[in-house]
Amino acid sequence: MELRLHDTLSREKRPFVPLDAKNVRMYVCGPTVYDFAHIGNARPVIVFDVLFRLLRHLYGEAHVKYVRNITDVDDKINDRAERDFPGLPLNEAIRKVTEQTGRQFHADVDALGALRPSVEPRATEHIAEMREIIEKLVARGFAYAAEDHVLFSPQAMNAANSTLPRYGALSNRSLDEMIAGARVDVAPYKKGNTDFVLWKPSKPGEPSWPSPAGIKAEGRPGWHIECSAMAWKHLGEHFDIHGGGIDLVFPHHENEVAQTCCAFHQERMANYWMHNGFLQVESEKMSKSLGNFITIHELLKDWPGEVLRLNMLKTHYRSPIDWTMKSLEESAKTLDDWYRVAADVAPAAPAASVVEPLLDDLNTPQAIAALHGLRSNDIAGLAGSLRLLGFLSESAAQWESRKQQASGVDAGEVERLLAERTAARARKDFKESDRIRDLLAAMGVAIKDSKDGTTWEIAR
Ligand code: AMP
Ligand code: ZN
Repeated sequence: MELRLHDTLSREKRPFVPLDAKNVRMYVCGPTVYDFAHIGNARPVIVFDVLFRLLRHLYGEAHVKYVRNITDVDDKINDRAERDFPGLPLNEAIRKVTEQTGRQFHADVDALGALRPSVEPRATEHIAEMREIIEKLVARGFAYAAEDHVLFSPQAMNAANSTLPRYGALSNRSLDEMIAGARVDVAPYKKGNTDFVLWKPSKPGEPSWPSPAGIKAEGRPGWHIECSAMAWKHLGEHFDIHGGGIDLVFPHHENEVAQTCCAFHQERMANYWMHNGFLQVESEKMSKSLGNFITIHELLKDWPGEVLRLNMLKTHYRSPIDWTMKSLEESAKTLDDWYRVAADVAPAAPAASVVEPLLDDLNTPQAIAALHGLRSNDIAGLAGSLRLLGFLSESAAQWESRKQQASGVDAGEVERLLAERTAARARKDFKESDRIRDLLAAMGVAIKDSKDGTTWEIAR
């Protein structure tokens, strides 16, 4: 079976044909590093990690290049730096914020079982490429300088008589309607009310770089140009897959396409545009601005990262997920069982019953149903398939001992009570043995008697 992916631009599932099977290229918009990431931000990380793993499985590890950027120039970062380090010069404070947040982001996504991308470019290290793209856009008449800003003109793009894509095609919007519906209080230096910023002046004390387009004052890039520049530097003018959350389709990705295609005379920036749906709480998108968020960091105090990962993958990536405690508890029970039976088993190749649904636009819920099927008749296949999906990074003993630590149960105390219970049973004092079993249950310990003796585990 071939890989098929849903493409936001053509709005259909299409067979995936890489531009170069020896160098399959994917770009995913990464975090803006100003604060802890919330579990909604973990969704694209996990979804595209599964795709990265699947592509490596299909094309070979050495033939897939995955780029996920770090946005380290942004107003939110500057605000945070001023608030948290009021005594420091702004540039130094900003470095502290981005370093701390970047480190935290890595710790979080490592715990979720996500492989590190092949390259993690930082915006501040690609200012030269941003300037270069902006110069090309100005030279070709798609952008202009005004009052120390450089603006991109979607109207110039759509007026160009060429093979360029139409501005609005990705997000399925009409430029005429955008023009008609634009806010009236548009900045005076904009020629058209849908023009967007490529470059802007820095306020005093803010990070700044020499400006393009003949502007004397130093300035800084807009957000959209950052991704066009980093994708170009690491993947070229035209590559295979571009991903991110559904909220990025407009304006961020629409503008990335406009910048890249107009600068390099391309019909396309990426051949497949993939977008994950929202993670929701009580039917609302989880977001910082709504205040209804829970950070990955907080969740990791209560749950192993693989539980969060499984919980995420139970829903197809394009559907909304309702994040609930009940579902987390079920995911934890499932993983406890899989660890017990499969973690220490030599894995076989991933089972076709798991790989096939993944090939169908990453149908992870169906792949997980297939894992449950393997549980009853093919443990080696279960082990191999779980590993393909990024599970079983620990041994069964490590998993169990982490669970014990997290539960606060003292293993020595449990063993002592079990020995007492065995002694009580040997002298047929069943009242005492039942009392000890109930005591253990109250501590959250479940015991299982078999002909080989008694085993115990933390009940979830
Ligand atoms: P941000 O830092 O807000 O730019 O988000 C980083 C990534 O997380 C982007 O790909 C967003 O689309 C994605 N994202 C943010 N909130 C959610 C959410 N509630 N559900 C799914 N993805 C999200
Ligand atoms: Zn981006």
